[in-house]
Amino acid sequence: MISSATRQLIHRRLSVELGRLPTGGGRRVALVYPSPYAVAMSSLGFQAAYRLLAELPDIACERAFLPDSANQGAVLERPVSYESLSELGSFPLLAASVAYELELAGLVRMLQASGIAPERMARTDASPFVLVGGPITFGNPLPLAPFADAIVMGEAEQVLPDVLEAFGDATDRSELLDQLAAHPHVFVPARHGDAPPPLARCEDALLPACSCITTPEAELSDMFLVEVERGCSRACGYCVMRRTTNGGMRLVGRELILSKVPESARRVGLVGAAVSDHPRIAAIVRDLADSGRQVGLSSLRPDRLSDELVGELSRAGYKTLTTALDAPSARLRALVDRTPREGHYIDAAERCRRYGIERLKLYLMLGLPDETDEDIDECGRFIAELTRIVPVVLGVSPFCAKRNTPLDGRPFAGVRTVGARLDRLRRAVRGRAEVRATSARWAWVEHVLAQGGPEEGLAVARAVERGGRFADYRREFGELGHESDR
Ligand code: SF4
Repeated sequence: MISSATRQLIHRRLSVELGRLPTGGGRRVALVYPSPYAVAMSSLGFQAAYRLLAELPDIACERAFLPDSANQGAVLERPVSYESLSELGSFPLLAASVAYELELAGLVRMLQASGIAPERMARTDASPFVLVGGPITFGNPLPLAPFADAIVMGEAEQVLPDVLEAFGDATDRSELLDQLAAHPHVFVPARHGDAPPPLARCEDALLPACSCITTPEAELSDMFLVEVERGCSRACGYCVMRRTTNGGMRLVGRELILSKVPESARRVGLVGAAVSDHPRIAAIVRDLADSGRQVGLSSLRPDRLSDELVGELSRAGYKTLTTALDAPSARLRALVDRTPREGHYIDAAERCRRYGIERLKLYLMLGLPDETDEDIDECGRFIAELTRIVPVVLGVSPFCAKRNTPLDGRPFAGVRTVGARLDRLRRAVRGRAEVRATSARWAWVEHVLAQGGPEEGLAVARAVERGGRFADYRREFGELGHESDR
């Protein structure tokens, strides 16, 4: 039974959604997101998966999210689907979209709270089949292997219909696993062991992905999301979306992008790994601004910021220009193969001032390989220079090495080391720039999972069982020989 508060919350959220598709009849599938509703509804990947499933004939798709009350250590309320308030255990198929490593705990918690054994070996043929996909498969899907019956590798557009067809054909779970394992892009841990098949790449004709539902309850409130490109033509050393992944960047034409935006959409998010590398990006923003819409871009490269683009962004309501500094010094930016130079950031700051954009937000990583205090000091000096032009906000996150990148296998700097570097940076920019940092502790957990295998996945389940605090992860990962400080 769900609480009346949850029932009311779901009812209220459904009442303000625009664009929801009819649930339809046929095989019931719960599309599961292991983070809360507001995050899921701001994810283009989740929205695209919902549209794909809901538009398939003979599929009745409902959505379920990590309950909002899922604070660390709290007992999780039993998740239910939003469309019919059904418990997850009543669905034959759970299709989970996992964006990144820390969401594995959310998936485990949702299964546990639903009375479904998180480990696939403990489930029976009567249990829901757990299918997983999402951006995490571009890096390292192995920690998911103890929990997922099957994993869609890479782009799901053409694979998901094949998987659902196999469901209709197979007579039992063993036959289903055999059929799925024969698919070139479906990872079936019970058949493949620790060797996932390659990533799927869908036909270009199926691009772009776009939102289905807009809602004021999403983190990106009332924003319609549309993909302007997929992949990237650059080669940043830490990034799984670099040009060697799935053949690099595929562009969507300006007219096609604009044709996807509904008349009613007042806010439009242009999404992609490297949106500002689209050769017509300024014109696309101008078209949207001309029609009175606010525009958001998911990624802006400093060396792509022209007067035309920044001017159009200002017209489209931009107050904060966000781009990536990536590393604290020019030496480390070269190490991670980032091409922008200091001059690009100074130009970006001056364009902010020129076009009335209030602040420049810069993302950077700390704890990169070979980083020293001198790199941090250089960063402090450079940020001070930028703040003489425009207010600056720094978004800092610790470096986590990912599979399928040149920096794969590089160690985590250590929670204490990252903390000390962050303190040094804060001191250097105190009174000049605001610093917002993500947790070094949880970045270490992310790092262990990005580099780990099924054993590390199982350790997550044990840590969740203990309460899911950082100390629980440190203890369980410690049993496997991982240390949070070097
Ligand atoms: S960090 Fe951005 S620009 Fe660099 S490879 Fe990844 S998607 Fe491309």
